[in-house]
Amino acid sequence: MQARVDKLRAALKEAGLEGLLVTSPGNRRYLSGFTGSAGALLITAGEALLFTDFRYVEQAGRQAPAFTVVQYDDLYAALGERLRTVGTGPVAFEAEHVTVAQMDKLREAAGVRWEPVRGIVEKLRAVKEPEELELIQKAIDIADRCFDHVVSHLRPGVTEREVAWWIEAFMREHGAESLAFPPIVASGPNGAMPHARPSERPLAAGEFVTLDFGCVWQGYCSDMTRTVFLGNPAQRDRELYELVLTAQQAGISAVRPGRTGREVDAEARRVIAEAGYGDAFGHGLGHGIGLEVHEEIPRLSARSETVLEPGMVTSVEPGVYLPGFGGVRIEDLVTVTEDGCRVLTKSPKELLCLPV
Ligand code: ZN
Ligand code: ZN
Repeated sequence: MQARVDKLRAALKEAGLEGLLVTSPGNRRYLSGFTGSAGALLITAGEALLFTDFRYVEQAGRQAPAFTVVQYDDLYAALGERLRTVGTGPVAFEAEHVTVAQMDKLREAAGVRWEPVRGIVEKLRAVKEPEELELIQKAIDIADRCFDHVVSHLRPGVTEREVAWWIEAFMREHGAESLAFPPIVASGPNGAMPHARPSERPLAAGEFVTLDFGCVWQGYCSDMTRTVFLGNPAQRDRELYELVLTAQQAGISAVRPGRTGREVDAEARRVIAEAGYGDAFGHGLGHGIGLEVHEEIPRLSARSETVLEPGMVTSVEPGVYLPGFGGVRIEDLVTVTEDGCRVLTKSPKELLCLPV
């Protein structure tokens, strides 16, 4: 954690900032190790303070040895007191993680020059340390085993919600501390909704089923999608699946250091557009992941100018969604290496046709 704080201090110095108030839970955990639900960090050149309330004082002391723990009754009063001792330069706050009401209180509490910053900690978080990659891999491994287990039980008649529960139960029983997000189980026409919520609809033969899920291991998330078929697919089903798989492989092949998110997105998108389904792929190709399931850096999308660097982790998840028919999506996590990328998700990707 000390190395992370040092990196942040270097970034603050370069930006001419006196300090940073960290209020995002993910950034707070990343920098300090503290996992409690209440608290803030104040990091300046000379100090690293963790403000929290009575409930978390002991936990904070154990989890965040690089920080001085300050107990508060009122966060703003405690901050105001400490901020009187910092220098005259601007103190940054996380514009994306402070409400207007909180900003008013900050201004009232401390007469420093507050300056909004965006993504300053997120930029550090984007490049994963080897230990972080190991934790992500562990979360992925649980999800991979879950997929193997769940598809061996899929059959017509079980509802989407039942399958979602199997996914949840398996991951929790196999070490996951929580789910990264509520599982998506979308059968038949429901597959046309990229973020469909599992319903009481029973699975039926002759349809695709999209499963999108992930879990958390020691704070780190996994996220994977597979689309399987119940019974015998028609020619069009096979073609659609192969199209999405080809696009996904094109996206993975395009991931390497120096590439922008936009360029990688374009490689996969071209495959789908050339087959005439460009309008049916309406979301970005991928997102960063780590302590949060959706991290802003890197983003693989038409507007992303993020330049990929070794150690970044991203999903690669093209999909085709056809209202009234259904959809296909395939999602892996990859990490950027020195000369390309390594696929972290291990589940097979050839079209799985389950007996009915
Ligand atoms: Zn997903
Ligand atoms: Zn995803």
